[in-house]
Amino acid sequence: MAKRVSKGFGDKNAKALKDSKKHCAVCGEPIELVKRIMTVTDNEKNSVRFQEKMVGVCKCNRSEIYK
Ligand SMILES: [Zn+2]
Repeated sequence: MAKRVSKGFGDKNAKALKDSKKHCAVCGEPIELVKRIMTVTDNEKNSVRFQEKMVGVCKCNRSEIYK
C-alpha cells in the first residue's frame, strides 16, 4: 500500500536583504559590493598574481566599474 506523504513547504525566506546597506553620501544610492579580480604584476618574481577586492559600486563610479 502506498503511503500518503504530505510535504510541508519550507517557508524559507530567501529574501534576506539586509537593511544595513550602506548608502553613498554623494548620490544617495545603496552601495553595491562587487568582487573584482585585479591582476598584480610582480616584477621581482616576474609573475602575475590575482587579487580579489571588494569594491563598492554606486552611481558615482558605476560607469568606471562597468565598462
Ligand atoms: Zn555615489
